[in-house]
Amino acid sequence: MPHEESPCSMMVADRTEHTCPGAAMLAGFGRGIVTVQDPGRIDERAIRGPDPASRARVPASRLPPMTAAPAPTATLPPTLSPAVCSRALDARDARFDGLFFVGITTTRIYCRPVCPARVSYHERRRFFDTAASAERAGFRPCLRCRPELAPGRAVIDAVPNLARVAAQRIAAGALNGRDVAELAGELGVSDRHLRRVLERELGVSPLELAQTHRLLLAKRLLADTTLPVTRIAYASGFQSLRRFNSVFRERYRLRPSAVRRQPVGSEPAADDLVRLTLAYRAPFAWDVLIRLLARGAMPDVETVAGGRYARTVRLEGRSGIVLVERPPDDPRTHLLVHVSSSLLPVLMPLLARLRQLLDLDAEPTAVDAHLARGGLGPQVARRPGLRMPGAFDGFEAALRVLLGGRPDAATGLARRVVQAYGEPFDSGLAHLTRLAPEAGRMACAGVGELADLGVPARRAGTIVAVARALAAGAVWLEPGSDARAARRALRSLGGLDERLAAAVVSQALHWPDAFPASDRALQLVAHASSARELLARAEAWRPWRGYAALHLRLEGPEF
Ligand SMILES: [Zn+2]
Repeated sequence: MPHEESPCSMMVADRTEHTCPGAAMLAGFGRGIVTVQDPGRIDERAIRGPDPASRARVPASRLPPMTAAPAPTATLPPTLSPAVCSRALDARDARFDGLFFVGITTTRIYCRPVCPARVSYHERRRFFDTAASAERAGFRPCLRCRPELAPGRAVIDAVPNLARVAAQRIAAGALNGRDVAELAGELGVSDRHLRRVLERELGVSPLELAQTHRLLLAKRLLADTTLPVTRIAYASGFQSLRRFNSVFRERYRLRPSAVRRQPVGSEPAADDLVRLTLAYRAPFAWDVLIRLLARGAMPDVETVAGGRYARTVRLEGRSGIVLVERPPDDPRTHLLVHVSSSLLPVLMPLLARLRQLLDLDAEPTAVDAHLARGGLGPQVARRPGLRMPGAFDGFEAALRVLLGGRPDAATGLARRVVQAYGEPFDSGLAHLTRLAPEAGRMACAGVGELADLGVPARRAGTIVAVARALAAGAVWLEPGSDARAARRALRSLGGLDERLAAAVVSQALHWPDAFPASDRALQLVAHASSARELLARAEAWRPWRGYAALHLRLEGPEF
C-alpha cells in the first residue's frame, strides 16, 4: 500500500507525475518547499489520442500505444508537500480545493481543504491527491464539506499521459457498464498495463476509481435532489439498485437515505429539470465567459439570455436541455445547472462535458499570476479569473470555427446549416429547437448542398472532410487527445490553415496552450510585427498561451 509508506500520496519527491498544476500559485506560499519549474517545455513525443465516440469503429490494433511514462516537466508544477497541504488546510485556502483531500485519522473522514468543520491536530492528517485514494485508505467523505462537489484538475499537457487520460475517461463514465479491457483497448494498451499504470500513478485500480466516482455522484444526487433512489443509482452509473445499496453501505457505512436532505419526490417526467451545482475555484469572470458563449452560440442549439446559458444536448442517444446560471445568493463558489431528467442516464459524461465547456477545473490564481509575470498584468487585472470556453462536442467546435467569420454573416449561415442538418427538437423553449448537427450526418452532406446554403465552396469541402474524418475515427477531437497530433491531422485534410486548426483544437480538446500566432488580428493587438515575434513573446505565457490569446483578443476592436 503506497499510502502506508507515504502519508501524502502526491508529494513524494521523486514522483514528479503527481504534480499539481496549480501549485505555481504557491510561489511565496510554501516558502521554499514548493519550487516552480520551467513551464515552458512541453513533451514533444507524438502519441495519438483516442476517442470514446469511435469505440466501435476503431480496432484497438490501430491505436498506437500511449505512453505510460509521465511527462515530468510538461505539467507546471511543483509538488505539494505535506507541510504545504497542512498550511493550505489551516488557512482553508479555496485555491487548493480539489487539488488535495485530507483524511483525519481519528474519525476516518476525509475533507476538502475548505471544510468548515475541520479542527484536527497536524499528526492526525493524511493527505491524498484524489478522493479515490482517500477512500481506498478507508476514509469516508465528509457530510459537511462534501468532497463530491470539489472542482477537478485541469489538463495542461499537449501530449496526453495514459494515467491522466484514463482517469479523465473514467470520471466521464467510461467504466459504467463496460469493463476495463474495453477502455484499455481504446487507449491502445493491455488491460494489465492500464491497471498497473493507474495503481502506480494514482494509487488506485481503475475499478476503485470508477466506484468512487459513482458513489460520490450518488451521494451528491441524494443530498441535492428529490429523485427516487432507483433513478439515482442508474444516473450514477450503477447497473443495479441492489449493487448500489450494497456498495454504498459497505463503503460509507451509511444507508443511502441517511444522506438525504429533502424528502423523496415522485418519478420525474422526461422534461422535468433536475437542479445541481457545479463548483469552481474563484475568481471567475462569468460575465466575460457568458459573452464569449453568446458570441459563439450555435443558433437554435444554444442561447444566452439574462446571464444564463442554455442548450439542447444529444449524448449517447439521449436528448434534452441544459441550463447554466450563476446563483443569485452565492455567486462565488459554484454555478447552478438544470438538466432534463431524460439526460439522467448520461449524467456523468454530461457533467464532465459541461465542466470542459465552462472551464470549471481551471486554477485561475495560478494562470493569472503566471500571465501577469509574463507581462499581461493590466489585462489580467481587467478580468481576473478569465475562463477559456471549451466545447461540448468536438465536431460542434469544428463546425463553429469553420462557419465563423464576421459575426453577423456567420450567424445567418450557421442557422441555415443547423436547420438543414440538425435534428428538430421540442424543448418547449423558443430559441432551442434543434440538436446540433452530428458528424455522421454532415459526412453524407454534399459540398454542393452546403454551397447552396451559402457556405463558400472551399469551406464546404473542409466541413465535409472533417465530418468524414471524425465519423471514420481518423481524427480525434476529444479532451485528452494529443493536441499536436489532432492539429496535424486536421491540417492534413486540407482547407484548414494553422489559425483555424489551432482554433478547433483549442476548443475541442480544451487545450489551454493552443496559440494562433499567425492570426493577424492577434499580432496587431499584441503589437507584434510577425507571427515569429508573437511566438517568441508568447513563450513566457506557456503552458497557458490560450488564456493569453483570449486576453489579447478581448482587448481588440472586435470585442
Ligand atoms: Zn469536511
